[in-house]
Parts: sequence; structure tokens; C-alpha cells
Amino acid sequence: MKTLIQTKSIEMKYADKRALSDINMTIESGKIIGLLGPNGSGKTTLMKLIAGLLQPSSGYVIYPENAARGVESKAAISFMPDELRFPGYMTVADAFGFYSDMYPDYSKIRAEQMRELLNIDNSKAKLKTLSKGQKERVALALTFSRQTKLYLLDEPLGGIDPVGKKKIVDAILTMQLDDSSIVISTHLVKDIERIFDGVYFISNGNIAFSGDCDEMREQSGKTVEQKYLEVFDYESI
Ligand code: ADP
Repeated sequence: MKTLIQTKSIEMKYADKRALSDINMTIESGKIIGLLGPNGSGKTTLMKLIAGLLQPSSGYVIYPENAARGVESKAAISFMPDELRFPGYMTVADAFGFYSDMYPDYSKIRAEQMRELLNIDNSKAKLKTLSKGQKERVALALTFSRQTKLYLLDEPLGGIDPVGKKKIVDAILTMQLDDSSIVISTHLVKDIERIFDGVYFISNGNIAFSGDCDEMREQSGKTVEQKYLEVFDYESI
């Protein structure tokens, strides 16, 4: 299995607040990885660091595919932020048009596939009129409209109802390319654990546990959710 990205001893401080400490992660190609932890544990910060949107206070991210050309390798990451950051007057169709203009790896076929999988048929609707759940579907469809090596999804199930959650999880599986990896941050472990190959639990900015899901199930007989409940307090979930 090929290593796609590694983080080396990453530390991140906001002013004097430490959000992450000593984060060492390896993301292999072709895997779906869960980044799991309660709100405020540091998941979004870590996603942004991997995407190159933030610089760590110390430590670094290695992009082995293209180490000498950091800017290009970061551009090969499709990042779904936790909120859509387009001006409200733009329509759903405008957002897809923007992605098509912006990213050379945009695929019309993949965009169409995602629109079908997630029932996005409101292309003339203004983004500001959409519900939280609808916005998240559009954001996910845009993220997967690109054909790239690494997809980073920050809380893709946040505002979604139970039926919608299943659709989204199925869509994520469908859209994975053979050698692409997907990192998904969430605290909704039960809804999505079936698609994880590996997990990192983030607690107060530290990796509290990491492992391969099949190995974990075989060795301890536990589901990811059971392990999660063991590591974190019920109150924090
Ligand atoms: P999560 O995604 O797990 O909810 P975050 O990465 O958003 O966690 O936040 C981790 C910690 O860093 C939290 O305590 C949060 O308040 C803090 N934090 C996040 N972004 C900022 C920021 N821009 N400025 C100051 N503190 C921040």
C-alpha cells in the first residue's frame, strides 16, 4: 500500500491556546479514514492543516507524491469545509460552474453522478435559500465532482436526517476512486463506521487511539462505536 500523506509531530496553537499536539498520521492510498472525536477536539484544525489552508506552529505535512512541488500537491486535495463559503446570491448551478472553472480536475460526469445520488435538482435555487442539509449535499457533490487523490470531508453528516445520512454514506463509497483516499471527520460514529478502513480518535488535540478497523474488530470484538464510547466519556459525545 502506498503512503499518500503523512503528518510529522504537528502542533497547532491559536494565540496561546494549543489546539493540536504531536499529531503523527499516515494516510495510505485507497483507504477511507475516520477522524473521530467530540466537538472542539481539533478535527477541523487537522483537516485544514492537511489541506494546506493552515500552517502548523511546529511539525509538518509530507506530500510524497509530489514533495518537490508542494503547491501543486495541495491543489490535488478536494476539501469539503463544514460550511459553504459562496456569496448567497449564487445559485446551485453557479457553484458547479465555479468549480468547473476553478479546478482542472473537475469532472462533469462525476458532478452529474453526485447530483443524481443526492437528489440535487434545484440548480436555479439561490444558495442562501437552502436548508443546512441541502447546503451540505451541495458541498459534498462539489467536493466529489473533482477527480483527485485525496478527499477531506469535514462533518459531512451534520445537518442530515437519518435517510439522508444513509444516502450520503452510500454516495461516498460510490465516488471513491480505486487509489484515492477519503478522510472523514465526524462525531456521528455509528452512522458511518461501516465504511471506515481505519480510524484516528482525537481527544483534546491528541491522538487518543488509532487503528485498522478490521484488526480491531477481530482482536477485540468491538465495533468502532463501542471503542469510541470506551475512549470518550458519554457526556462528551
Ligand atoms: P473540532 O473540529 O473537533 O470541533 P476545532 O479544530 O474546530 O475542533 O477546534 C479545536 C480547538 O481550537 C477548539 O478549542 C476551538 O475553540 C479552537 N479553535 C479553532 N479555531 C480557532 C480559531 N480560529 N481561533 C482560536 N481558537 C480556535
